[in-house]
Amino acid sequence: MRQKLYYIFLILLVGFIHQANGQTHVLDNSMHNLRNGNQPEWEEFLNKASIKELIIHFDEQENLSEQTLQLRQYDVKHSWQVLLNGQKLGTLITDGNDMNVYFVIPPKVLISGQNTLSIIPTSAELDDILVGRIILHKPTRSEVLNEAKVELEVVNKKDRLGVALVGLGYYSTDLLAPALQQTKNCYLAGIVTGTPSKAEVWKKKYNIPDKNIYNYQTFDQLANNPDIDVVYVVLPPSMHKEYVIRAANAGKHVWCEKPMAITAAECQAMIDACKKNKKKLAIGYRLHHEPNTQEYTRIINQKLLGKIRKASCGAGYTENRTNHWKQNKALGGGVLYDMGVYAIQGARLGTGMEPIAIVSAKTSTNRPEVYKNGLDETTIATLEFNGGIMADIKTSFGENINYLNIDCEKGEIKVKPYQSYSGVKVISPLGEINHPYQVPWQQAKQMDDDSLSIMQNKPMLVPGEEGLRDIRIVEAIYKSAGTGQRVKI
Ligand code: NAD
Repeated sequence: MRQKLYYIFLILLVGFIHQANGQTHVLDNSMHNLRNGNQPEWEEFLNKASIKELIIHFDEQENLSEQTLQLRQYDVKHSWQVLLNGQKLGTLITDGNDMNVYFVIPPKVLISGQNTLSIIPTSAELDDILVGRIILHKPTRSEVLNEAKVELEVVNKKDRLGVALVGLGYYSTDLLAPALQQTKNCYLAGIVTGTPSKAEVWKKKYNIPDKNIYNYQTFDQLANNPDIDVVYVVLPPSMHKEYVIRAANAGKHVWCEKPMAITAAECQAMIDACKKNKKKLAIGYRLHHEPNTQEYTRIINQKLLGKIRKASCGAGYTENRTNHWKQNKALGGGVLYDMGVYAIQGARLGTGMEPIAIVSAKTSTNRPEVYKNGLDETTIATLEFNGGIMADIKTSFGENINYLNIDCEKGEIKVKPYQSYSGVKVISPLGEINHPYQVPWQQAKQMDDDSLSIMQNKPMLVPGEEGLRDIRIVEAIYKSAGTGQRVKI
């Protein structure tokens, strides 16, 4: 086993406050959500009031010697400046963790009377941070740090995570297992399959020990297996909820394939289960990790081609199977769930906004003997965004379509192919973007990124909330198609 264990010391600076002798002044005891940009970055920050800058006024005496400012920060990815009475004390530390930081207050920066502390963003990048619990210490920074109680905790930390794939169908076999041979931050440690013959083949091919091979009955025993850090659910969509929740309850981090689940309520239950178990949840949207996608979304988000006027996205392929779960509603079939989430993603990434309504939608099939009882082989919909911006989407099992067009004030961005495993190409007035790579690099990149986020305790790039957003839109599209009405989201 190539797994290497090493020990690190995690230094926890435990809240140290010179309460006695008036040595401290608590300037603010709450945490504030500061948001640079319009879009909330993380669902967990959604309900908090968002402001761009924190300004705090407080009364103090002039300081003739060095003093110290302590504050707590969480999930800082870009540059934020801390100013006291207009003088820069420093910048927040670029780090996703929840931590205390300590700034030197040079002599005479505090004034007698009202003082003003401000925390402001200094880059144009979208960033959603938590900051607060601000304390002024009269001693110097080194005195404060020396007196802080330092607790050392030994953490048994791996340098690579063990992944167990659940469901050994097409995607696990052809893409994920080969990708896990290329990953640096994780490896294929185990499998869950209901087919003993598959277990035999995989065991030999990938050198998987018997103790790391499970079936759906023994699944919950994963809880006792330290080799498995992450459970990757690669089953038909109707089974995602059950296995994500069981994996989280077994104490494992979870990756779940798209579409996240069948209903928004299921998605929420999955998010809640992972939160309850303090485990990370990521959705297998590989394009978020893909460099060409990241570059056109940067053009959109930084408005390098001006405002968005409209967008259109198509995602589909000719599906020749007639008796697969994709043609079975109870298992999560219907093209909107399968390829439609890519078209929805195209509309959202392409506009850089969240839709506020489905204006109209239509489901159809040319093969009613295959797509029975109204199940959609093809779906079209118009999504409405703030400012009257529209996106037309089309998804189909009846034709090969793979494009995203974004009409901006200063020209058009064309992404084609838009969602392939390789070759994603972007053409715009700013030039061509086409970072090359071979299949299954996308999947390896996604799993490496997600492993690193877990190991560094950072937010996942594509958390459960992102999968939930798409399923809410899927539900609204089906509702609009069924009623013929505009449906608010
Ligand atoms: P598949 O049909 O090839 O594999 C599904 C697996 O689930 C099979 O091994 C099957 O035996 C197993 N299974 C267990 N119980 C089952 C049941 N009751 N009914 C049917 N199958 C059952 O499907 P797939 O194409 O590998 O898709 C699996 C998941 O991966 C889906 O969520 C799909 O959307 C997703 N996927 C994602 C991508 C991507 O690019 N991110 C690509 C393909 C598939």
